[in-house]
Amino acid sequence: MKNATGQPACGLRSGVCPDCAGARLVVSGDESSCLRCGRRWPTRDTDPCPWPAIIYVHSGARSARVCTSHGALSSFWELVVEPTERDK
Ligand SMILES: [Zn+2]
Ligand SMILES: [Zn+2]
Repeated sequence: MKNATGQPACGLRSGVCPDCAGARLVVSGDESSCLRCGRRWPTRDTDPCPWPAIIYVHSGARSARVCTSHGALSSFWELVVEPTERDK
């Protein structure tokens, strides 16, 4: 998936605010909102995460390329879809 900037999108299955690093969006019906800055989006526009995946993060043997806001989220590894044995 690519976004308008031509960079690969982050794609994690959870909305985060691109302006507030690490701020998860609160989903209410069809709308997701950031409690820190008050910005809102239609939920379908933020899940999977559409923001540019511009940072690489590593944890032990794992690595992922995510947006800056997901990279600041301490628990985002739970959201990273790992290649599984059956995909090999
Ligand atoms: Zn925000
Ligand atoms: Zn993201």
